[in-house]
Amino acid sequence: MDAASTYYALIAGEARESKQTFVDVDPSTGEALAEVARCGPAEIDEAVASARSTFEQTWRHTGPTERAEILRRIAESIRSQLDSLADLESRDTGKPLSQARTDVGVAARYFEFYAGVLEAMYGDTIPLRRDLMVMTLREPYGVTAHIIPWNYPLQVGSRTVAPALAAGNCCVLKPAEEAPLAAIRLGKIALDAGLPPGALNVVPGLGEEAGAPLAAHPGIDHLSFTGSVEVGRLVGKAAAESIIPATLELGGKSPNIVFEDANLDESLPVIVGSLLQNAGQTCSAGSRLLVDERIRHEVVESIEERFRAVTIGPGTDDPDLGPLISDRQRQRVAGHVEVGRGEARLVWGGATPDDKALGKGFFYLPTLFDEVPPEASIAQEEIFGPVLAVTSFNGMEEAARLANSTNYGLVAAIWTKDFDRAHWLAREIKAGQVFVNTYGAGGGVELPFGGYKHSGHGREKGFEALLGFTQTKTVVLKHSTP
Ligand code: NAD
Repeated sequence: MDAASTYYALIAGEARESKQTFVDVDPSTGEALAEVARCGPAEIDEAVASARSTFEQTWRHTGPTERAEILRRIAESIRSQLDSLADLESRDTGKPLSQARTDVGVAARYFEFYAGVLEAMYGDTIPLRRDLMVMTLREPYGVTAHIIPWNYPLQVGSRTVAPALAAGNCCVLKPAEEAPLAAIRLGKIALDAGLPPGALNVVPGLGEEAGAPLAAHPGIDHLSFTGSVEVGRLVGKAAAESIIPATLELGGKSPNIVFEDANLDESLPVIVGSLLQNAGQTCSAGSRLLVDERIRHEVVESIEERFRAVTIGPGTDDPDLGPLISDRQRQRVAGHVEVGRGEARLVWGGATPDDKALGKGFFYLPTLFDEVPPEASIAQEEIFGPVLAVTSFNGMEEAARLANSTNYGLVAAIWTKDFDRAHWLAREIKAGQVFVNTYGAGGGVELPFGGYKHSGHGREKGFEALLGFTQTKTVVLKHSTP
């Protein structure tokens, strides 16, 4: 760690030291990667005040074209720093470099996409009476707070602030303590690209010290939270106390549903990838596999083969599988697997890799459980690691029942050639996104994304997210008829 590895908060356009710092760890090596400002209530107050002042004095007076231009410049700047941003994200999160490179491209796309659609955000006119002119205006909330997790700091950070800024809000972004670096860089990139100082403040820190005071701050007008159900519940309560809207993007236990007529050569690599991406630490990870009982053996055998062949290593070596984010997370995953051993048949994995070279990082083998009863904890709880639970079904009604049998409802995929069946299931499944013969739709910046049930509420991505960062004002003008 050298002097360049100190990361400050960004408040009112200035790098701000805080009284305390915390050490950010490289999950591939277990070593210190950076020293980071540890913001507390005082910095949160300043950041909210700075966002408010920029909103009132500058940002809310900008026109759509001006905002779009700045957002486009942010996108260009992100793209121009692809190599260094991807390297930073890979070191900080442990994710394979090629996945981090994809994240950088997707982050740029968020700014590009919202630059485009913000200019097409119109209100309505309502034909009420001849002497009345009625129109609706889409107005920004004001100061928006954004609390994000460690798994996709750059992508999720961009996903939540790009539409908020596009709609005319000013933001306070609180990255997770486990991986805050790329989000802090994003703040600097946006500033250098011409975003007014104070329009995007970044306040790294611990959940209780920085996240909680931000969520409860009386100066915020809208709260977006991405993270666990447990913390989502807390911040949701804080938003309710302040009577402000909250978007909650929470966990998942998303199923891939494979019918006997599915093309396995095409589907299985995608299914394996949907779990192992970012070592299973993805809210939309395909962590359940529901498979037609007639092809279960064949499918499980093939997945085992693929899991055995997975390359494991530091993120920057670009293996198939990097480490988990922390030793604590690895222990959590191992704890779930121990419970799973008593519930189902462990086919492969369930341990740390033997390779001594990986000894200091937080690695865990891809792990496959078969014959998992639907009520088992490993079929119900989000593990957030490379652990796949396989359950078989007989017929599409049972497939639908199993797909809907958890508290979550984020994503589902159906693999079949029978489109009548796919269509029926797509309607039956309670999830925010349903894919047929694909998964994840390549980043899907344009596609509304969010949860049913405990996966949360509100939608990010797409045009819907932009509207979500606005409130509607109806204006009625009475005029006399000459
Ligand atoms: P987490 O809930 O522990 O932390 C998320 C953020 O909340 C962090 O910035 C953390 O510092 C902050 N936080 C912690 N305690 C807080 C408190 N009391 N008040 C306010 N903020 C607080 O989640 P995590 O472990 O960082 O991330 C993993 C979870 O995130 C998983 O459940 C995953 O499914 C979910 N996730 C969801 C999505 C989605 O879009 N649905 C995307 C990524 C991750």
